[in-house]
Amino acid sequence: MDPSPTDPESPPSSPQRRGLLVVLSSPSGAGKTTISRLLMAADPAITMSVSATTRPMRPGEVDGHDYQFVDDARFQNMVEASEFAEYATVFNHRYGTPAAPVRAAVEAGRDILFDIDWQGARQLEASMDKDLITIFLLPPSIAELERRLRARGTDNEAVIASRMQRAADEIDHWAEYNYVLINEERDICLAQVRTIIAGERLKRSRQSGLNDFVRTLVSPA
Ligand code: 5GP
Repeated sequence: MDPSPTDPESPPSSPQRRGLLVVLSSPSGAGKTTISRLLMAADPAITMSVSATTRPMRPGEVDGHDYQFVDDARFQNMVEASEFAEYATVFNHRYGTPAAPVRAAVEAGRDILFDIDWQGARQLEASMDKDLITIFLLPPSIAELERRLRARGTDNEAVIASRMQRAADEIDHWAEYNYVLINEERDICLAQVRTIIAGERLKRSRQSGLNDFVRTLVSPA
């Protein structure tokens, strides 16, 4: 997307920058889905990466929008054809990020948000480090995490128990992330995420159009 001169997050006359890859991880119930949704509503320059998964579709989910729902054989084919930027097994199902849309977005200066776990963040860090920022959301307490999981009403007791157990494993990886936020209040957390992204967009290394612009300043035609 072309930066507008009135966009406070785009420096004037800097036409190009590389797209930013923003990983948002958290234990389920820490508010990642809500924050992602609000972030995209507030910032149309960001789109969500659509992962492939072998898990069954939940009520209300749309194939191709929430996930690309595939069977085990198809997922394995995608692995063998190196179609994933990263993939992992989470809650006994396989999840993976298709690589092609990610590469295209970075080159076109479009930002992408990833709702993936620590295993995926680690793999993207290894392959796409310079375009990547990683943000981890912590719940304000374990009691609040459990309350939020139950309030969703989508999972049965066994699933909630396994998600609570997995939450501890996920939280263990907080220190591998660039930014760590405690999601106590939704709007404050959203503002913090937007502040991080605004700053990261302005990094010199991301502003690929800046060289030419600065040249016009120091040696005007
Ligand atoms: P859910 O099944 O609730 O949508 O997601 C379960 C977990 O899988 C979440 O922690 C989510 O971040 C993670 N996840 C979703 N898509 C991917 C993916 O493509 N790669 C990885 N590594 N994790 C994913």
